[in-house]
Amino acid sequence: MILYNSATRSKDEIKPHTEGKINMYTCGPTVYHFAHIGNLRTYIMEDVLEKFLRYSGYDVKRVMNITDVGHLSSDADTGEDKMLKGAKREHKTVMEIAKFYTDAFFEDCNKLNIKKPDVIEPATNCIPEFIKMVQGLLDKGYAYIAGGNVYFDTSKLKNYYVFNNFDAEDLAVGVRDSVSEDENKRNKTDFVLWFTKSKFEDQELKWDSPWGVGYPGWHIECSAISIKHNGEYLDIHCGGIDNAFPHHTNEIAQSEAYLGHPWCGHWFHVLHLNTSNGKMSKSKGEFLTVSLLEEKGYDPLAYRMFCLQSHYRKAQEFSYEALDNTSAVFNKLIARIAALKNDPSEEINEDAVKKYKDKFKEVLGNDLNTSLAITCLYDVLKADTNDRTKLFLIEDFDRVLSLDLINEAKKYNEKAQSQPESDEDKEIQELVEKRTQARKEKNWAEADRIRDQLKDMGIILEDTPQGVKWHR
Ligand code: AMP
Ligand code: ZN
Repeated sequence: MILYNSATRSKDEIKPHTEGKINMYTCGPTVYHFAHIGNLRTYIMEDVLEKFLRYSGYDVKRVMNITDVGHLSSDADTGEDKMLKGAKREHKTVMEIAKFYTDAFFEDCNKLNIKKPDVIEPATNCIPEFIKMVQGLLDKGYAYIAGGNVYFDTSKLKNYYVFNNFDAEDLAVGVRDSVSEDENKRNKTDFVLWFTKSKFEDQELKWDSPWGVGYPGWHIECSAISIKHNGEYLDIHCGGIDNAFPHHTNEIAQSEAYLGHPWCGHWFHVLHLNTSNGKMSKSKGEFLTVSLLEEKGYDPLAYRMFCLQSHYRKAQEFSYEALDNTSAVFNKLIARIAALKNDPSEEINEDAVKKYKDKFKEVLGNDLNTSLAITCLYDVLKADTNDRTKLFLIEDFDRVLSLDLINEAKKYNEKAQSQPESDEDKEIQELVEKRTQARKEKNWAEADRIRDQLKDMGIILEDTPQGVKWHR
């Protein structure tokens, strides 16, 4: 598979460290609030990547952390812990907040058919691993203690800005006007590995360490958790684009300094979902969650389809109008699949299967082109082959797309059967009878015209020994 790699800024072949096996790491949610649908865009695209790798035959091990400590509200290591902020907002303990929003996150993932990673590791479970890594960095001379905190010394690295398509001046921590500088830092880009001192003395969760009672920095969590579960070599690291700097840049700095060799081969970054007012946020404007979409009557899977329609390396703009369009497209797609007949007496056409599967693999294998993968579904629906083969292919593609296509089509047919006869049903019945009459009168042109008219209405006719049957 070829996938864009932020570290090389090119589309690179995925080359796992161990043949056939892929170690994958995903920055998990900071569980101080519900995930917004922007966060979930990132997790949907990562899910498609994981599933496509599995589909292509790789043995994937995916690890995700849960950030329940250490993610501050400012990148400059000076803000308040987001978890503590959340706990204060809701008059609960940090652990209560973490449990509630972790569960809510996985409920949302479930609704969006995002598979659970193989390993889910809350940061608060791994304090000994963080301490070991920080100590290792101090021992190797990559870290220093100042004002009670342990800092990573970025001046020790030859190349700190790995993703250097960013403007260093713009991004350097402490340089931005709104951010006050931490005076303990030797270099502006240095970052905290372990806090014992911050402006916020009421940090709820603290642990003993060789440097005093305190808590870990956010960046060290992901490095240590990845090394704990994926070992010293990571094949793919995922996250939203905002994490590239400083979070991922710092992860690379400390992991490679600690391990003494290159750490992760491939960096997969998903561009943001924005609203017309700009970046989606948990504090600004309408807080867009999966539950809110459901309340407004949207199927969460229509939102998944909305994400798949656009490439992960392009920012996507959310609007209800756009989601309405996708919902309509999704419903029509389901209706077309529902009209396919699963007849076990039909033989699966192996040539067609190969042809359409090859195309599906080609488009996803070329930098995960999900919108072309959806086009592959339509190509199958239009294909000159029997329904059984089409259903086989749709089910196969859905192992990656995860739109529940077969199930949704089944539900669609069940609903159509259980509904009382509507005006439209009566109209269809009348047309069917007219066509039967035309056929009796050997008026084939009229019979064909009516069949086409019904087809345009999404109706398929079946001539059976018991008479003509129709379905949507
Ligand atoms: P957080 O819960 O803030 O740690 O973020 C969880 C994930 O969502 C991270 O991978 C972020 O990079 C990603 N993310 C944050 N905002 C957006 C957005 N507007 N669109 C897409 N992904 C985002
Ligand atoms: Zn991370």
